[in-house]
Amino acid sequence: MENKQFHLGDIVQMKKPHPCGTNEMAIIRMGMDIRVKCLGCKHSVLIPRVKFEKRMKKVLRSAQSPALDNEKEE
Ligand SMILES: [Zn+2]
Repeated sequence: MENKQFHLGDIVQMKKPHPCGTNEMAIIRMGMDIRVKCLGCKHSVLIPRVKFEKRMKKVLRSAQSPALDNEKEE
């Protein structure tokens, strides 16, 4: 269930690849609608949030990945 969480800047994989053959999209705008940009052809698409959640397969890379922060404490 938790892989249905997504944030601005995340790279996501869709269930259906883009016509250009690339299956990686970057989330470039969040709101009622989600704007994603195809990493292959740089085309951006606006998709209603509900639809996006159905079409998205998983998050490939999170923009705010906690795994990359090795216990940095200040
Ligand atoms: Zn494309």
